[in-house]
Parts: sequence; structure tokens; C-alpha cells
Amino acid sequence: MPLYSHSRLSTFEQCPLKFKFRYIDKVETEGAEGVEAFVGKRVHETLEKLYKDLQMQKLNSLPALLKFLNDEWKKNWNDEIIIVKQDYSPELYLKLAEKFVIDYYHRYKPFNHSRTIAVENRVVIKLDEKGEYLLQGYIDRLGYVDPGVYEIHDYKTNSSLPLQEYLDEDRQLALYQLAVKEGYKDAQRIRLIWHFLAFDKELESTRTDEQLEQLKAETLALIKQIEATTEFPAKVSKLCDWCEFRPICPEWKHLYALEDKEPEEYLEDDGVKLVNKYAKVTEKKRKLMTELDNELEDLKERIIIFAEKIGVNVIFGSDNKVRITITDTVKLPYKNTEERQELNELLKKLGKWEEVAELDTFALAKIIKNKGWPQQLLGQLKRFIKIEGSYRVYLGRIKEE
Ligand code: SF4
Repeated sequence: MPLYSHSRLSTFEQCPLKFKFRYIDKVETEGAEGVEAFVGKRVHETLEKLYKDLQMQKLNSLPALLKFLNDEWKKNWNDEIIIVKQDYSPELYLKLAEKFVIDYYHRYKPFNHSRTIAVENRVVIKLDEKGEYLLQGYIDRLGYVDPGVYEIHDYKTNSSLPLQEYLDEDRQLALYQLAVKEGYKDAQRIRLIWHFLAFDKELESTRTDEQLEQLKAETLALIKQIEATTEFPAKVSKLCDWCEFRPICPEWKHLYALEDKEPEEYLEDDGVKLVNKYAKVTEKKRKLMTELDNELEDLKERIIIFAEKIGVNVIFGSDNKVRITITDTVKLPYKNTEERQELNELLKKLGKWEEVAELDTFALAKIIKNKGWPQQLLGQLKRFIKIEGSYRVYLGRIKEE
């Protein structure tokens, strides 16, 4: 049974294909790291040093910490690091990392809010009784305040500040709380504390025992879902910009290959040529269809007027004729309206429902595809189901994605 982690679970939730690349196929992507993650690592290391040294009664000065940060930055920086926001230079990111450390230092000096028990502390959480399902994590800093009161500290270098309700639902620190509760039997109160360094802001949350039990059950269910998964579709989102698997991801591989091409070379690419042509023909078709529809509508109106004028039902051309009829169309209440619901109920009451009700094959196909009913139930329908693969081609604007 693999050892799970919060980030492993989040990767699956974010994109099953990314999960497959990273944890099943174990694709090597050395060096392909986003600058944001790089900043996060360097700041974490610096704060780790601060507290580790404090445990040995050594208080680093701010210049000493910044020197440490700069040295680590230089030692680890490489040209493969991805900067998505092209307007910002590596130097600017270094300044940002320094600012995080400076603000934190000024805010908490002399760092005596709690006694540090451990930094970068590895914890293993048992999710089931037998201990078959284990999850590991690293607590940035575990602190001890008063008897029975513990603090789990987490440093965040994100550029967005989450709402309190989001933190109250956060899985990562709550899972760590389970480990602390298990490991320190005197723990009566465990505070979950996030340091949002970009905002020089501390946010806090707590969990009840019931919430922790529920979280354990949900996490276990997610792990079982992952283990039963056989298909790992790509899930495109904004986070793709930071995904190290873009060069091999079927959603981005072509674009990635184009990025290195010169403009002339780019336009000569077979894929680019095909899509440009496809877009052009689609647009041409749309225009032609609109023109033809308008022309037909206009002719229809003129034919009706002509027929009415000379009092006929049929008009003759050279090889064709046109018949004009008046038909009444029965209009019924739309689907999902209250009126439609009432109509359905009435028909059932009148015993006429079976005569007009039909199986909604579209809805059933959707349920089968999304495995929306229990496996056992779907199994009984198996002999009626045929799965046929088919290609579809969708045209979309690049900026929409
Ligand atoms: S680039 Fe996007 S869609 Fe592709 S694997 Fe990464 S996260 Fe998934």
C-alpha cells in the first residue's frame, strides 16, 4: 500500500492525469519547477533555520537570515525554473522572498510565542484501525504553548489570501492534527495556524473530534477511489500553467512544441495549418448556412403571400411544386418547470403515463458513463450497453482556455 500524502491526494483531485504521470508512471521532470515553488522552498528553509537555531538558543539576526536565504537561492537557482508571469524577473522573486522573511522576522521577534517542539516534523497518520492506510506529512513547525495546548504552524507564500471558511475546511493541517493528537496524549487543544507571508497575516482554525473523524473517513474514501481508478483523464485548469508535465500532456504537448518555433516555422507546422484551415472552413460554413437560411425564410414568406393572393394551396415550378399547409403545433410546458411537473403527475394519476413516457437514453448514457449508479446495478444493464469510441473535433479560441 503506497504511503499517501496531502499533496498526492490534491494532485489526484486537481488532475488525474498529472497524478498518473507523477505517481504511477513516475515521469522524471528534473529541474522543471515553477518559480513560486522555488520561492516557497527557500523561505521555508530560512524559517526552518531560524527555529532550529532557536532550539539551540541561537537567535539569528535578520541580516544573517537574509544572507542564508540569498546563499541558498544562488546555490539552487537554475535556468530550467519556470517563470509563468514573464513580466517578473528572478531578481524580483528574490526580493519577494526577502520581504516574506523580513516581515515575519519583525512580526514575531523574539519568537517566544510558543516553544518549538519540532521543525519540518514528519508525521504519519493512521487512517484505519489496522493501519493499512497511512498518510504522511511534514509540519513546518510544531509549537507548545500552555499545558495541553499545541500549535501546528504552516507557512504559505501564495499570492492570494483564502477566506476563513476555506481554512475551516482545509484538509492538510487537520490531518496533521490527527497525528499530533495521537502522539501527544496531553493535547487538549490544537490550534491550526497559517502564516500568509505575502500579507504578513496569521490565520487560525480548529477542529472538533467529530470533524476529525469525518475527515479521516473522507480521506480514506478518497484513497480507495484513487486505488479503484483505472482511467486518468486530463483536467485542464489554470493550474496547468505551473504543471511540469505540460510538455508530455496531450492537452498541451502541441502548443509546447510550437513555443520554440520561429513565426514562419510556426505557420508551416502541419497542425497549425490544419487548425487554421478548419477554423476558416467552419466560419465559411456558418456564414453560408446563415445566408441560405435567410434566403429560404424570405422565399417561404413570399410563397405564402403569393399563395394567399391567388387563393391556392400548391404553387408549381418547372420540375417542382410547393404545397402550403397550415398545421397547428401542440405546445406543452417545458421540462423542469412546475407546470410540466403538474402535467406529469396528472398523467400518472389518469393512468396514461406509460403511453407517453419514454426511456431517456441520453440521461441513462450519461449515468453509465459517469458511473452514477452502484456498480452492481449497472452490471445488470451490461448486456444492453455497447461502448463505441468515436472521435470528435471541437474548435475553440485559445484565449478562452
Ligand atoms: S498540464 Fe494540466 S491537464 Fe496536463 S497533466 Fe498537467 S494539470 Fe493535467
